[in-house]
Amino acid sequence: MSEEPTVSEFAELGAHPSLVAALSEKGYQAPTPVQASALGAPDQDLLVSSQTGSGKTVAFGLVIARKLMGEAARITPSKMPRALVIAPTRELAAQVQRELGWLFSATGAKVAAFTGGTDLRGDSRTIMRGVDIAVGTPGRLVDLLERRSLDLSGVEVLVLDEADEMLDMGFREAIEQILGAAPTERRTLLFSATLPSEIRALAKKYQRDAHSIDSRSPKTPGQSGHDDITYEAHLCKDSERTAALVNVLRMVEEERTLVFCRTREDVGELHRELASRGFLAAAISGDRAQAERDRALETMRQGRVRVLVATNVAARGLDLPELGLVVHSDLPENVEALTHRSGRTGRAGKKGRSLFLVSIGQRRKAERLFHAAKLKIVFTPAPSLDDVARHERDALKTEVQAALTEPPAEAAQALARELLSDGDAEALVAALLDRALKARPAGEKLAAVDAGAMRPAPQGTVGAKSHGEPFVLFQVNLGAKDQAQVNWILPLICKRGAVTRREIGAIRIARDCTFVEVAERAAAEFAANAAERDPRAPNVQITRATAAMPPRMFEGPSKHPARRDGPAKPYAKREGAAAPRPYVKREGSAEAPRPYVKREGSAEAPRPYVKRDDAAPRSYDKKPTRPAPAGERPSYIDRGRPAVRPTFTPKATDRHAPRKPSR
Ligand code: AMP
Repeated sequence: MSEEPTVSEFAELGAHPSLVAALSEKGYQAPTPVQASALGAPDQDLLVSSQTGSGKTVAFGLVIARKLMGEAARITPSKMPRALVIAPTRELAAQVQRELGWLFSATGAKVAAFTGGTDLRGDSRTIMRGVDIAVGTPGRLVDLLERRSLDLSGVEVLVLDEADEMLDMGFREAIEQILGAAPTERRTLLFSATLPSEIRALAKKYQRDAHSIDSRSPKTPGQSGHDDITYEAHLCKDSERTAALVNVLRMVEEERTLVFCRTREDVGELHRELASRGFLAAAISGDRAQAERDRALETMRQGRVRVLVATNVAARGLDLPELGLVVHSDLPENVEALTHRSGRTGRAGKKGRSLFLVSIGQRRKAERLFHAAKLKIVFTPAPSLDDVARHERDALKTEVQAALTEPPAEAAQALARELLSDGDAEALVAALLDRALKARPAGEKLAAVDAGAMRPAPQGTVGAKSHGEPFVLFQVNLGAKDQAQVNWILPLICKRGAVTRREIGAIRIARDCTFVEVAERAAAEFAANAAERDPRAPNVQITRATAAMPPRMFEGPSKHPARRDGPAKPYAKREGAAAPRPYVKREGSAEAPRPYVKREGSAEAPRPYVKRDDAAPRSYDKKPTRPAPAGERPSYIDRGRPAVRPTFTPKATDRHAPRKPSR
């Protein structure tokens, strides 16, 4: 029975037959959503927000083909480029050229890339020989335009690839110059991972009646992660990040891995470390010569190396087939970088993993980043020495079992017979396996990470701002029951944690303990110092808070007689005059406080908080200020603040994070 030929869905959607054939040859029968949408909007400008790896290059290739060839089987040769693709980086431009190269292989179209780092005269010669589809980076395209080597007056389709990235890289002016050099009646396709206002403004200025396509997953709107990517995070000591990476790489066998570092120096360093441990690794970063970067990518594509170490910029938009794992050796700076980095894997429907190596000190930062990226990631320890050993043992077992299915060579068979005739079979196999195991790479020893550090932080203990700065919440095992007061507990906290008052945010005294915000930048060190036992106060313990800062329930001892004997009771339960009232205008109550209101002529009118004499200012905004003496920096009060602070005097317990009372 003959197999039924598969009908390409591309053909059904009206894709050019030559491209349909090229796609079929690659095994691509069904369009990705962005390709289907692009084919469904003939003759319109497109504004596409697409996930990386969504097949967008083929998508705009299909549109270019339709525009340039119509029904013709092959392209009509032209002296000037008829399609132009602008891409942010050299690698991405080269990748687009490669992708369009095979897609247009049967059409006779000449696809050329123009990027920095190569001889300009070579580009001019290429243009003279004739180019149908030009792909280039903004800088090089502008150079060629200014030298009058490139004429864009014949451009019918113009594609902006990764437009958000190009704007971020400062190419706005260059892009506008290029767009200005192309005819206005062209078709403009704008592809961008995100659509911030600048991109929309660009689209509005340079597109006409653009059809919007959002190919991001409808299940997770706004989520930066892919559905096809699994996200993981290992917590480790900062000094052990390389060792943790080595163990991770040992566990993934042949999987091709892209490792991201923040700086070029880190890339070089990590590359050397991995190579010295026997990994087949290559590196790319912005400072390397183009030829070197190309070589590194090629060796990775061919599978001659299995680890590529890169900076964000160098790896932007790269399509590395078979890339199963992305490791963030350093945390990405923001959600966008996280998305771009992770998007190198899980492409075109394949599954991938994105793994973060997070040092203990950066845990909070990582959590905030994951939260912003709408990713739920549980911290786990990196694979240990034992995990790697176990893995190697299992791998060896699988290899041996696989080897048993093949007939052994004659010589090996004879040797086995000989050895078995005068030895114990088990001892013999054990000796062979022992040798084989010793020949396998070993893992690295890692310090155990405290299980507590792995637990997710309780809600409210990180992330919010105090004094405009991120904080980490700690708790001291002294509370109102111990007559804790800010005036002595603050110095104690500073001393124990070896920080200054500037690193301390709000302090709140609860019944059994005191909560204290510590600036995140100092939190790791604070925790380490505070964990050390103080012989002068052996029972005082300062630990990471296990709960969020409670609402202000218990106050420290107050001057108010009602509170002199011990902690105040929760406001809610207090009846009568002593209970503070919120600052709302109450109707019909003589006792109602009326702060801020200038009252005329009433002896009974409350004059809250300050004893005034006749010369004292009477209203908040009419308070006179003392000028700073000549030549001196004005003090707090001198800088136009009222001489009297009338109302929002923070409670003693909140002295370090003045807040407007809320109810
Ligand atoms: P891109 O988003 O253009 O970087 O493409 C990502 C990868 O998807 C490339 O390797 C493409 O060759 C591949 N690809 C493009 N279209 C399809 C398709 N229809 N089916 C499967 N893979 C595709």
